[in-house]
Amino acid sequence: MKQERIVIALGGNALGDNLVEQMEAVKGTAQAIVDLIEEGHEIVIVHGNGPQVGMINLALEAAGKTEAKTPPIPMSVCVAMSQGYIGYDLQNALREELANRGINKPVATIVSQTVVDANDPAFKDPAKPIGAFYSEAEAKEMEAKGYTMKEDAGRGYRRVVASPKPVDIVEKDTVDALLKAGQIPIAVGGGGIPVCKDGNSLHGASAVVDKDFASAKLAEMIGADALIILTAVEKVAINYGKPDEKWLEQLDQETAKQYIAEGHFAPGSMLPKVQAALAFVASGPERRSLITMLSKAKEGIAGKTGTVIVN
Ligand code: ADP
Ligand code: MG
Repeated sequence: MKQERIVIALGGNALGDNLVEQMEAVKGTAQAIVDLIEEGHEIVIVHGNGPQVGMINLALEAAGKTEAKTPPIPMSVCVAMSQGYIGYDLQNALREELANRGINKPVATIVSQTVVDANDPAFKDPAKPIGAFYSEAEAKEMEAKGYTMKEDAGRGYRRVVASPKPVDIVEKDTVDALLKAGQIPIAVGGGGIPVCKDGNSLHGASAVVDKDFASAKLAEMIGADALIILTAVEKVAINYGKPDEKWLEQLDQETAKQYIAEGHFAPGSMLPKVQAALAFVASGPERRSLITMLSKAKEGIAGKTGTVIVN
């Protein structure tokens, strides 16, 4: 089998809702990833942070209301915090799994920043779901407190925040250097800390970059062969959740455009995955992308399941 450079994007929603669940979830994830490392591939891991960054942000806001000495913490810093604690769990789970198999490869989490455009129209139209799921009544209460709430793919209501498109990945050369040195970087967690460029300065932005778009951007910039998006469903569907639901084995640019126009992929969840995969495969010849379930990663990569996105 050809040895490839692969970007793996892990869904934040597949990491569980609390620390205990996360520690359990990363064990299975580590096994799937180490299977690929064992085959000799260069692997970089990007993870989502939707549920986690929402929780961090709400907790800090609540603390700020009851404890005068808690300063306001910007969303960019909440993303940085989420990279730290998710990376910590993932990095340790991978380290352990590698050690169990007698593989000596260092794993490290890189605090990573994603440059966004300060004039991105997304700043005026929050669309990225973060945090927990709420009932309609709870969502109304949250709205009264000033949060923007939206229904998320039939699963309940969630807070939404601005999600500008990634323009550049600041630490891409570090990722490349670690891969060349045979190490395993965890990078661009939660889509990367959103920053805007101002001369030589980078300033945190109040946003959460979608990790699917950010991982596609990273994959493109480091010349990856494949982008594998691991989430909570085995395949992409049309008529998702309806009686005539149909799971897709393959999706090309033309067909995808039609399905997107017909509204088959929910914005904020499946749509960014499909769009990110399409953008990546269009960015260079021989580039492949796969969307599948975390627990089916191995079968998916062997071509046995998942939705393959082709140019
Ligand atoms: P992640 O945390 O991995 O980014 P998301 O929750 O953002 O996961 O997106 C994956 C979810 O998208 C699936 O679990 C499913 O509920 C939802 N979804 C929306 N539309 C579709 C579709 N057309 N096909 C499959 N899943 C879909
Ligand atoms: Mg998502």
